[in-house]
Amino acid sequence: MKAISVLGSTGSIGTQTLQIAEEFPDQFRVVALTAGRNLSLLVQQIQRHQPELVALADPALLPVLKQHLEDLPADQRPAKAPELVAGPSGLNAAASWDTADLVVTGIVGCAGLLPTLAAIRAGKDLALANKETLIAAGPVVLPELKKSSSRLLPADSEHSAIFQCLQGTPWAENARLSTGVPTPGLRRIQLTASGGAFRDWEAADLEKATVADATRHPNWSMGRKITVDSATLMNKGLEVIEAHYLFGLDYDHIEIVIHPQSIIHSMIELADSSVLAQLGWPDMKLPILYCLSWPSRLETPWRRLDLTEVGQLTFRGPDTAKYPCMELAYAAGRAGGTMPAVLNAANEEAVAQFLDERIHFLDIPDLIETACERHKADFMDQPQLEDVLSVDQWARQAVREAVQRGTRRMTLPAVAA
Ligand code: NAD
Ligand code: MG
Repeated sequence: MKAISVLGSTGSIGTQTLQIAEEFPDQFRVVALTAGRNLSLLVQQIQRHQPELVALADPALLPVLKQHLEDLPADQRPAKAPELVAGPSGLNAAASWDTADLVVTGIVGCAGLLPTLAAIRAGKDLALANKETLIAAGPVVLPELKKSSSRLLPADSEHSAIFQCLQGTPWAENARLSTGVPTPGLRRIQLTASGGAFRDWEAADLEKATVADATRHPNWSMGRKITVDSATLMNKGLEVIEAHYLFGLDYDHIEIVIHPQSIIHSMIELADSSVLAQLGWPDMKLPILYCLSWPSRLETPWRRLDLTEVGQLTFRGPDTAKYPCMELAYAAGRAGGTMPAVLNAANEEAVAQFLDERIHFLDIPDLIETACERHKADFMDQPQLEDVLSVDQWARQAVREAVQRGTRRMTLPAVAA
């Protein structure tokens, strides 16, 4: 029985992880949960999974959660009340909780960085969904991993696909990932991308893109931030950097392929030119389950892939003119050091401003590019944790100030409406 701690339990990754725990009660036991603001869902999760520890991001909500739990009828309260904690130290406690074997990082954004480091320092295995942490702080996270016994298992579907393909190679025993060291014999990675919400839109029509349009994903049901990242294709750019840190390949050998059906979750090319792919319906439960069961596989009753039902698998190159975020990500990845942290933080802030309807969809890449350009003067090649945290704050502030000054497209009708 594997004991798991779920960070961001009320989100898309978190709820799917808990569904898996419910489906496999003999395999997994949930010992710790963390959440942001959705207390009613959190209370249901506490009732159902009876964790030992629950952590809230915001200490101000702790008394509210206590009250919710006290208000439950006696027969609906958890058999043993969980320990309740909050704030950064509370999230770190959940990430390093004594009885946990594996931590699922389902927090969105760089907010997941310190809990992820706490989990690594405590030697926990990680199911990494929270890609922003690795992207912003690769130069800090990788050396920590090297010193620790924790193993980094990718939950992102593309990186899970690559990881799964690598299991069938002669160096599979080296599947303790993410030391940033090149995987021998791995020649090329092809990350597949659905193309996001606007894949069938003409570039000129993006002028009319609204928040409602950008948060409607054709294939995957996910949190709002990553859905917007998919619409700008920044998600794929971030995944290029994630793949670089996980598998150690240089950026010239990590490619993006648009594959609208989202059936092939990514491909690897090996030294002998053989290409391996992993296929499945677009459902995050599979990559999450693989993190939890690795190196074993569990029998599931889940819908089985039928390629005759899919009919066609199609592929095309990415349109970098329509989607400038991909090139911004490649450039930040190649620069390395603190640049991916700036790219990521500027993106998080720009997406938040877009979701609040303060800027236009097309402002997002402009704001990120400006932040990355300005950061060149303060760039650091080998940042420490404090440096990453400081440039993260700087980039968010830089984007907020740029928005206050007014962006090029702010007055477009889609925003005014
Ligand atoms: P989500 O918005 O659905 O959930 C985020 C969770 O984090 C919630 O529980 C929320 O309460 C919590 N949270 C938010 N801000 C927080 C903060 N400041 N401090 C602590 N907790 C906070 O997001 P999601 O779609 O589940 O994505 C989570 C992570 O997984 C992201 O990094 C995303 O890129 C990655 N990911 C998600 C999917 C997916 O299918 N949803 C796929 C691949 C990767
Ligand atoms: Mg992905």
